[in-house]
Amino acid sequence: MSNSDQLKRADFIFKNENDWEDILKKNIKRSQQELINELISSELKGRGGAGFPTGLKWKLSAEAESDAKYVICNADEGEPGTFKDREILSLVPFKVLTAMAICGHVIGAKEGFIYLRGEYFFLKPRLNEAIHEFETYCKTIHVDFSIRIFMGSGAYICGEETALFESMEGKRGEPRNKPPYPALSGYMNKPTVINNVETLAHTYTIFKYGAKRFYDLGVQFSRGTKLFSVSGDTPKPGIYELELGMSLADFVNDFGDGDTKAVQVGGASGFLVPRKRFTETNIGFQGKLTGISLPTGGSMMLFNSSRSMFNVLDNYLEFFREESCGQCTPCRVGCQQLWRGIKAVKSGDKNAQYLDKLLRLAETMQLTSKCGLGQSVANSFSSIVENFREEMIY
Ligand code: SF4
Repeated sequence: MSNSDQLKRADFIFKNENDWEDILKKNIKRSQQELINELISSELKGRGGAGFPTGLKWKLSAEAESDAKYVICNADEGEPGTFKDREILSLVPFKVLTAMAICGHVIGAKEGFIYLRGEYFFLKPRLNEAIHEFETYCKTIHVDFSIRIFMGSGAYICGEETALFESMEGKRGEPRNKPPYPALSGYMNKPTVINNVETLAHTYTIFKYGAKRFYDLGVQFSRGTKLFSVSGDTPKPGIYELELGMSLADFVNDFGDGDTKAVQVGGASGFLVPRKRFTETNIGFQGKLTGISLPTGGSMMLFNSSRSMFNVLDNYLEFFREESCGQCTPCRVGCQQLWRGIKAVKSGDKNAQYLDKLLRLAETMQLTSKCGLGQSVANSFSSIVENFREEMIY
């Protein structure tokens, strides 16, 4: 069996199909309940990283009573090593716009927004043209749904959904306390469905081909396909659509350079998996019934033996201390202390046992930080320090 057979590649998302008008027309004639049932039975989970069931999110917003509701496409793709959403919006924007309008029909929203990462400003003119063409068509079939682009300003934390709402409302981009959750109280404190770009593109696939076609791909708890942004020490960097549930060993066989010593799964906020764990690690929300399962927003960074894992961790921590919004102490102070701490150990100012204190600090941050940024620093910190301790010391 060839490696690509083991990985089960797919081509739904980027298949250039000019049938969005038909998909929209067909699906807005279907009842809200029918569309929600189809999404729930597909078992699609959010592809931004958190993995919340998409059908349930739509259902909660649909059932909420309100004079206004919103659909937001989260295109604030800021996780280091992730670049798939940019390509979806560049190559198949109408799939995303169509999915947003179908979502609007399901939950009863007339307005949608694309929150576009500040660094993706070059996409704005093309997207605006697509939106204009899309809205013109919507009018001809009496679909009352408009879409506007809201530009981010380069803050990583604004990819967090509640910080994104604050930013859109003209306030500092800082996460809110949850609950309430966005499905019931999001943008302007109204029921809001906020989905990642890729998640919306998958709903297009499901409404076109049916839930069963999607459900039949992947494994239990991790249905369907996923886009992976592959980078680092690989002879074939790029974006690939693969079935969920694959083992990391199969992935490395296909994408590694023959000398892969570790893979960072899920970007800087994800986990570093060393070579000895490749076989037992699956990529998915729960994957198979045995082994370790790692969810991911799609970033897969490969490192070979030429890489210093100290430098990798130093780079991640510098990123986090820069991007922490500073609202809560564990994250604001913890990111600085971890960053300074590993430098002190590497330079010999602190002994190797100091790493154990830093591991406890990372665990404290995971337990006490307010949002996913501070909570996830421990993922990469602990997995790198525990697996490559010898590279951290003087
Ligand atoms: Fe801000 Fe970090 Fe606290 Fe999140 S965890 S609210 S990013 S300081």
